[in-house]
Order: sequence, then C-alpha cells, then structure tokens
Amino acid sequence: GMSAFMLIVVHRPGELSWHAMSMAIMLAVVYIFIPNRLVYSLAVALCATGLFIALAFAMGSLVPSDMLTMSMLLVLSNTFGFVAARRYHRLWRMEYRAQSILRNLSMNDPLTGCFNRRYLQEKFLESEILRSRRYGLSLSVIMCDLDHFKAINDTYGHHGGDAVLRTFAELLKKMTRWHIDCVVRYGGEEFLLILPETNLHDAALLTERLRDAFASATTVHDANQSISATASFGVTCVDFALTHEAITLEGLISSADGMLYGAKRDGRNQVRSLQLP
Ligand code: GH3
Ligand code: MG
Ligand code: MG
Repeated sequence: GMSAFMLIVVHRPGELSWHAMSMAIMLAVVYIFIPNRLVYSLAVALCATGLFIALAFAMGSLVPSDMLTMSMLLVLSNTFGFVAARRYHRLWRMEYRAQSILRNLSMNDPLTGCFNRRYLQEKFLESEILRSRRYGLSLSVIMCDLDHFKAINDTYGHHGGDAVLRTFAELLKKMTRWHIDCVVRYGGEEFLLILPETNLHDAALLTERLRDAFASATTVHDANQSISATASFGVTCVDFALTHEAITLEGLISSADGMLYGAKRDGRNQVRSLQLP
C-alpha cells in the first residue's frame, strides 16, 4: 500500500498528505509487521483503502484519470501485500510446527512418551535439586526396572515387549502428579521418577501402589493373548532441611539404583527404600 500513497502524496501535497501518510504506514504495518491473522489484516487493509479513496474524493479535486491510476495502484499494492503476507504466514506456521516437533523429539522418548535421559540431565534434575536445597525440601527419586523382561521378549516377541513397556509407562504417568513429578525412560526397561517435595514415607507409599497396580495389570497383545509382568523398585529420599552436604544427581540416582538391586536380589516384584542422609 505504501508506494501508491507515496505517489499520491508526492503528486498532491497539502491537506491530504498527513492522512495519506498515516494510512500508508498503517497498511504496511497491518500486512507485514503485526502478526495478525491474515483475514484481519486483509479486512483492515481493505477498510483503510476504502476510507482513503473516500477521503480523496471528499477533499481533493481529482480528475478521472488520477482516480483510475490511484485505484489501480491501490489494487496492485493490496494484491502484492496480500500475497506477501500469506506467504509469510505460511512459512511462519511451518517453522513453528517444525520447531515444536524438534523440541518434542529432543525431550521425549518416542515409544512411551516419557521424558528421555537428555531432558533429565539438561533441564530437570539439577534445577530441582537446587530448588529443594534452597527451600529445605524433601526430594525423592524412584528407579524402576521390569522383571525378567528378556523372557517377555522371548515369549511374546519384541512387539509384545514394547506393549508392556507402554503399559508400564502409562501407569507411571497416570499415577504421578502431572507437571510436578517427572517420569523418565532411563534405559531400555528402566524408568526413573523424580518426585519434588515428597518425603520417604509418601514416596514409598506411592511406589508400593505402583508395584501393585502393575503386577495386577495385563497388557493385551495380539487380540487374544494378554501379558502379565512385574517390576522392582528402588526409592531414595533426601531431606534438604537436614543436610547441607552437596548431594549430586548422580549420587541420588546411584543410591536408588542400589536399592533397586536389593529388590532384585531379594526376589523381584518389590520395593526397597532408603533415607539420605
Ligand atoms: P531382571 O529381572 O534382572 O531385570 O531381568 P531382565 O531380563 O529384565 O534384564 P536384562 O537387563 O537382562 O534384559 C533387559 C531386556 O530388555 C533386554 C533387552 O532386549 C530388552 N529391551 C531393552 N529395550 C527394549 C525395548 O525398547 N523394547 C523391547 N521390547 N525390549 C527391550
Ligand atoms: Mg529388567
Ligand atoms: Mg535393566
């Protein structure tokens, strides 16, 4: 729209120029710079154009050939503006979609939808530890590992195993607090749960409920087969109100891992827990 108005302003300076200038600027802004929805941009641009033509009629003594030239220019500039804005919007939308897909891929495990280990290491655990220390809160972590998972794969195939993994992950996500707790796929059939502001008693209670729920759940496989499985759990809680020791995320995870190992050794399908310090 800009060029058409500039042309007219140059040709007929005077009273018109202020209105023309401001409206030209508005047209340009409406099309390109304000990320409006395209329909709104178009509506505002057409209104502004109509208004300007009315203004030119009322104030100027335009001869018919000028009117024709001006109209042509307005139609042209609006068309170009529309095409440019539409392309810009489409690119912007594609870019946005690509970005969110990438962000999702970099944070989540595709099979289970849980967070992946990179997200845990880069974002969550370190800041959660810092926050818990600052406010003197308890922080619990749970390490889980499916029992005899190799045998499930051998019996029901990799597809069956994958289905069991999904069942387990869904349970973990469903039974923990959304956007507060963090469920991470830590390894092939190992999952790590981070529970902020949770003491050992509550964490162990939750873990026992998880163990029980999974042991009584079945995974439907190939329409008429259903798979049962169990998991073992290691829980560690640190109470930052009681310690000023530097507790690292590696320390917490390896402690929970040690508890998990104990649960495996003692016969699987059970929970072992430990309070730090
Ligand atoms: P334990 O009770 O001691 O944990 O025995 P286990 O058989 O579960 O442990 P092990 O570590 O020997 O086997 C883990 C198996 O998990 C081996 C591997 O093939 C399988 N696995 C790892 N990732 C996946 C996956 O994404 N899908 C499937 N279907 N299987 C997986
Ligand atoms: Mg296992
Ligand atoms: Mg394992």
